[in-house]
Amino acid sequence: MSQGKIVKIAGPLVVAEGMRDANMFDVVHVGEMGLIGEIIEMRGDKASIQVYEETAGLRPGTEVVSTGAPLSVELAPGILEMIYDGIQRPLERIKAMTGSNIARGVSVTSVDHDKKWDFVPAMKAGDRVEAGDILGTVQETSLISHKIMVPPGVMGTLKEISGGSHTVMDVIAKVDTDNGTTVDIRMLQKWPVRRQRPSREKLSPDIPMITGQRVIDTLFPIARGGTAAVPGPFGSGKTVVQHQLAKWSDVDIVVYIGCGERGNEMTDVLREFPELKDPKSGESIMKRTVLIANTSDMPVAAREASIYTGITIAEYFRDMGYSVAIMADSTSRWAEALREMSGRLEEMPGEEGYPAYLTSRLAQFYERAGRVICLGSDKREGSLTAIGAVSPAGGDNSDPVVQATLRIVKVFWGLDSGLAYKRHFPAINWLTSYSLYNDQIGAWLNKNVSEDWTKLLGDAMNLLQLESELEEIVKLVGYDSLSAPDRLSLEAARSIREDYLQQNAFDGVDTYTSLPKQYGMLKMVLHFYYEAKTALDAGVPVEKIFALPVREKIARMKYVEEENVKSYLDAATDELESSMKELVTGEVSA
Ligand code: ADP
Repeated sequence: MSQGKIVKIAGPLVVAEGMRDANMFDVVHVGEMGLIGEIIEMRGDKASIQVYEETAGLRPGTEVVSTGAPLSVELAPGILEMIYDGIQRPLERIKAMTGSNIARGVSVTSVDHDKKWDFVPAMKAGDRVEAGDILGTVQETSLISHKIMVPPGVMGTLKEISGGSHTVMDVIAKVDTDNGTTVDIRMLQKWPVRRQRPSREKLSPDIPMITGQRVIDTLFPIARGGTAAVPGPFGSGKTVVQHQLAKWSDVDIVVYIGCGERGNEMTDVLREFPELKDPKSGESIMKRTVLIANTSDMPVAAREASIYTGITIAEYFRDMGYSVAIMADSTSRWAEALREMSGRLEEMPGEEGYPAYLTSRLAQFYERAGRVICLGSDKREGSLTAIGAVSPAGGDNSDPVVQATLRIVKVFWGLDSGLAYKRHFPAINWLTSYSLYNDQIGAWLNKNVSEDWTKLLGDAMNLLQLESELEEIVKLVGYDSLSAPDRLSLEAARSIREDYLQQNAFDGVDTYTSLPKQYGMLKMVLHFYYEAKTALDAGVPVEKIFALPVREKIARMKYVEEENVKSYLDAATDELESSMKELVTGEVSA
C-alpha cells in the first residue's frame, strides 16, 4: 500500500507525489471522501490518477492512498438485470442510499453480498478439478443458469463442496491443489478489468450470429465472436437496430454499455431496455442483460473504464459456455474521454487531438471478442460478439475514431440518414456496408441452409450495384432511353430493396425472419428475375412482365408467418412459372 499527497488537480486528473510503491493501474482513494481513481501514469514517485468522481473541493496536500490492486469487477450471481456505472457500482442501490444525485465516495458492493442463492453442485468431493470446470449452478434469473466455475489458476482435487442456500461470499467448495495448499472457493470471483480472461483456444469465426434481420444475415452477416461497427447519424434508426439485435440475435446474454450520448441522466436505451421483451420467453429482456451506463453526473473518465468493465463481464458469461453480445454505444464518446485525459496528461496529440494510442486501445477492446473453447475439462464453446456504435461529429466518416475502428472490425453496417429519410428501414446502405465474414459464413449457409445461397447473394449484390450505375444514366438521359433488359434489372433491384431488404421492426411477423425464410424470399425475388429474363429474350414486352399479378404475392411474402411460408412460396412459384410460360407461348403463337 502506498500513500501520497496531491500536488496538482486538473479536472478528473489528480497528480500525487510520494507514490513510489504504487503501480500503474492501481486503484486509489483520493481525499477524505475516498474518491475512486486509477493510476494511469507513473513518473518517479509521481502518480497521475484518473478520478472517476467529481474532483471539486480537493486541495493540494490532501492524502491519496493506493489500494495496491488494479480496477476489478465482481463476478457472481446477481450481475444480471443490473444497471451499473462505469466502475460497476449499481446505480439503483446508490440512488436508494444517497438520492438521485450520486454522492461522492460512496462505497457499495457490485453484487449483493448478503442475498442467498440456491447453489446446486454438479461435482462431488474427490473429483479432479481444473480452472473453468463447472462446480455447480445457480438459477440466477428465469432465463439464465449461472455456472459457478473453478477460477483461473486453480487445479487439484475437490475436498468438499456444499450445495444449498449460500451468499456469494460463503465458501461453497475447497480444492486441495497439487502444490499442497487448500483453496477456498466462493461464488464470487474478482477480475482486473484491463486483463483479458483466459480461454483454452480461439476458434475461427465461421458460424453466423443469426439476427433475423434480412439485410444483416443475408448481405452483411456477423460471425459469432465477430466484431462490427455501426455509425449512427441522428434519426437513422440506430436505436431500433440495437433493440432488434438485443431481442432477436441468437445469443444468450447481452451486455450493453451506454456512453452518455445525450445529456440526460439516463440515456433513452436505459429507459427502453427494461421494457423490451425477450421474444422466446415473453419475459423482460433484462433477465439476460447487464446494462452499464455512464450518467451525465459522472466525469468522462468513468467512460474510459466502462468499456473494460463491460467486456470483462461479457467474457465471464462467455466462459460459462454462453454466447454473448456486447454493444458499446458510442465508442466515439469513449474515445473523447481518452482524448480529454491525454490532453490533461500533456501527451503528444495525434490526429484531431486524439492520443496516438487510440487505435491500439480500440483494438484491445475488439480483440477480446471471439469464439472460443472455454477453460474447463468439458471443452465447451462460448462466444463473445462485439458491436460498437460510432458517432462522428457531423456524421463525417473520415473522423479518426471511425477510421481506426474500420481498421479493426470486420463488419460495417453503414446506417444512412438518406435512406431513413426515404423511410427505407433498416437504413443500412448496401453499397457502403461490408462484411469480411461473407466467405466463411457463406460456406456455412451453403452447407446448412441451401447450396445456392452464395450464388443468390452474388446475383442480388450485382443487381444492386448495377442499379446504382443505371440510376446515374437515368439521371442523365432519362428512364425512357433504357433498354428493356436494363429496365428489368432496375425492377429486380427495386424488388430486392423493397420486397426483401426493407423490414419493419414493428410488424409482428416482419420483425424477425428465420434463415430458411430469408432463403425462400430471396430465391423468389431472383426467380422472378431469371424467369423474366427468359421471357424477355423470347420477345415478351417488359410491360407485360411487370404487370403480372404474382408480383403482388412477392411483395407480401415478408408478412407471411414462418409456418406458412413454404406453401405460400410454392404456390407463388407455380403461379410465376405458369404465367411466364403463358406470356412466352402467347408471344410465340402471336
Ligand atoms: P436513432 O436512434 O438513430 O436516432 P431511431 O432508432 O430512434 O433513430 O429510429 C428513428 C425512427 O425510425 C423510429 O422511431 C422508427 O419510426 C423508424 N425506424 C427505424 N428503424 C426501423 C425499422 N427497422 N422498422 C420500422 N421503422 C423503423
